[in-house]
Amino acid sequence: MSQTLEEQLLVNGTNHQLAKRIQIPLNMPKHPTRSLQFLDELNSQPTKVTVPLEAKVKLKIIVVGAGLGGLACTIALARRGHEVVVYEQTAVLGEVGAGIQIPSNSARLLHSWGVGTFLEPHVVEPNGMTFRRWEDGSTIGYTKLVPDFRKNFKAPYYVVHRAHFHDALYQRALELGVEVRLASRVENYDLSKPSLTLRSGEVIFADLIVAADGVKSAARKLVLEGEDKPPQPTGFAAYRATVDVEKMRSDPAISWLLEKPSLNIWIGEDRHVMTYTIAAGKSFNMVLSHVDLTDPSTWKPETAICDMRKEFSGWDPRLVKIINLVESTLKWPLMMGTELKTWIAPSKKVLIMGDAAHPMVPYMSQGAAMAVEDGGALATVLSLISDPEEIPRALEVFEAERMKRSVQMQQASLLNGTLWHFPDGPEQRLRDESMKPEVEGRSFSWSANQWSDPVTQWWAYGYDAEEAVEAAWNDRNASKDP
Ligand SMILES: Cc1cc2nc3c(=O)[nH]c(=O)nc-3n(C[C@H](O)[C@H](O)[C@H](O)COP(=O)(O)OP(=O)(O)OC[C@H]3O[C@@H](n4cnc5c(N)ncnc54)[C@H](O)[C@@H]3O)c2cc1C
Repeated sequence: MSQTLEEQLLVNGTNHQLAKRIQIPLNMPKHPTRSLQFLDELNSQPTKVTVPLEAKVKLKIIVVGAGLGGLACTIALARRGHEVVVYEQTAVLGEVGAGIQIPSNSARLLHSWGVGTFLEPHVVEPNGMTFRRWEDGSTIGYTKLVPDFRKNFKAPYYVVHRAHFHDALYQRALELGVEVRLASRVENYDLSKPSLTLRSGEVIFADLIVAADGVKSAARKLVLEGEDKPPQPTGFAAYRATVDVEKMRSDPAISWLLEKPSLNIWIGEDRHVMTYTIAAGKSFNMVLSHVDLTDPSTWKPETAICDMRKEFSGWDPRLVKIINLVESTLKWPLMMGTELKTWIAPSKKVLIMGDAAHPMVPYMSQGAAMAVEDGGALATVLSLISDPEEIPRALEVFEAERMKRSVQMQQASLLNGTLWHFPDGPEQRLRDESMKPEVEGRSFSWSANQWSDPVTQWWAYGYDAEEAVEAAWNDRNASKDP
């Protein structure tokens, strides 16, 4: 059913009286516009915890994996009234000692789910993101995050220590009454019942099983009926490291990086270094990406620091100074998945999500954000059904919407690798030229910087996973109407 203009405006939270004053023929086709954006401001409350739509059909749902994706999904489902139990193989919960960006499309959902209370004490909200030339650190691109992202996308853009993010999700899940069972490795699934068998031999049944079991997902192969399509190496690897900011403060050549909370990324041929402060400003986080065609099984942790320094020798002397302060580092292979034929088992009772479904290179800083969106979309679409018979249809709508979004994000992430890693030469010069207006504060309609490019920006950060899947559900039902 098509909506009147008034209804469309009300859906966007716009004031009723104002909507009435706008005289546009209601049968006019909708054109893409943001000229009514200003009206949204009337009712917008960016960090409000919203009252969730209670699911009409309450389900018993198992989530496999208590990573960032599994826990986010758990929260989204539990707040709709489903009974959720999480099974995690590790005995102690945790995340690697590194940072993570929480872009606005994810932060908006997390805030509305009540995660903000647990997250806020630990986050840093960077003022902006500066792209720097590899050789001397000169500014070649700039995205203003504060206040622009809050204003435009109704949510902040955060960076945080992974352990703090993970713990915030865990605390919120517990607050919602979720049971998280640790040291509970899932050994097998029965896709038709559905049920799973733990290493202990215990068999557990549910209405739905959501496997958020990461890049090496065992559930993915089952869902794909035995023909797994695991992510492939990209020929890139990343060193991850943190530096104590106190060590940086004593050196004026690098202490300026701590003056304002910011993201700084140095880009050059086949390499880049993404940096920002985490742990409420106490630690400086670095992800150092580079070409590496060797087999990860041959990597030696004891030579990692030395190898990392060699990779970036000759880069901006200030960056090299910081790299020299790193005391330990971990090297990660960067893997990339492609579109899978499905995320849902034929029984329509088991599905995969998060990195299990759509691993991507971290160049858009959106991998975990996509998992958060998956959780929001799944919980929303399940809250719209009025009968368990509708679960398969809900999952199909979820899959179609989420596949489209995450495959596009996989591509956008890869594209950054291309854009950032040009050798010095004509392409690099034209790229830098395209980012000049944003550095000089001039207006622009496109940019090679995907954080700044207006079209990419609205697609990446303005997207609302819950609204999108609800619209897709309504469209699907409308198209089925006689
Ligand atoms: C260098 C780097 C930087 C990144 N930066 C960002 C960023 O800035 N922003 C962003 O949004 N994303 C970023 N990402 C991506 C992000 O880290 C991942 O997308 C996200 O952590 C995936 O979460 P997940 O829960 O799907 O998987 P995982 O974190 O892998 O969790 C899977 C969980 O399942 C458990 N498990 C697996 N098998 C079983 C089993 N059989 N039984 C029980 N439990 C099981 C595992 O123990 C684990 O806890 C980055 C990634 C990398 C490599």
